[in-house]
Amino acid sequence: MDTLPVCPYCGMPLAKTTQRKTKCPHCKQPIFVKKSPDNPVKRMMTEHEAQLVEQQWAIYQHAQHCMREFGCTSDSYLNLLLQMESAHGLDDAPWKVEEFLLKGQFQSLKSHHDRAYAAWRLATLYNSHAGNFRPYLSVFSRETLLNFQVCNYVKKVEIKQADWGDICPVCQIGNGQQFSLAEAVNALPLPHVGCTCSHVNGAPGFCRCQFWPVLKF
Ligand SMILES: [Zn+2]
Ligand SMILES: [Zn+2]
Ligand SMILES: [Zn+2]
Repeated sequence: MDTLPVCPYCGMPLAKTTQRKTKCPHCKQPIFVKKSPDNPVKRMMTEHEAQLVEQQWAIYQHAQHCMREFGCTSDSYLNLLLQMESAHGLDDAPWKVEEFLLKGQFQSLKSHHDRAYAAWRLATLYNSHAGNFRPYLSVFSRETLLNFQVCNYVKKVEIKQADWGDICPVCQIGNGQQFSLAEAVNALPLPHVGCTCSHVNGAPGFCRCQFWPVLKF
């Protein structure tokens, strides 16, 4: 015979195992039902335990992401996470891991196209963690232009504003401006100075304008 489930707070027996969040009829505390990355069985737990499990899932998903994106093993990911946790605290550790990996990747990338993409990702990472993101937007712009330089048929570029979200007046005015490729590399008109655009939920000043090649055949 199955033993009766008990409340994770007061230990009193419950009529049945619940599959969803409920309240203990005895102590009225909220009982959560979750599985964790290290235990696939759904089980009842306290609110505090549920929060810890949520943290575990966040770390687990971040680890999966880093394994996919950067080829980390789970051991190297955990090592890195522990290092970052002791240096920066648990809350900041995951994004510090990402920063470390992205910077390492950026150093090793050879193609301007890939470097532009990595710089964009560093900029968005810093943007959502109160970091200094503008320098990486500049790197993004510069690498984008250098990538065009590799393609001999791009002689001219045009600035196009992002096709989503609010666009600030500075970026609206800049939209459609054309430059010779050499001019653009030299003056680097992006990211726009004085831009107040936002990217997702980050700090303002994240100019999302991009250079597009002007092709003439
Ligand atoms: Zn209870
Ligand atoms: Zn802009
Ligand atoms: Zn703007």
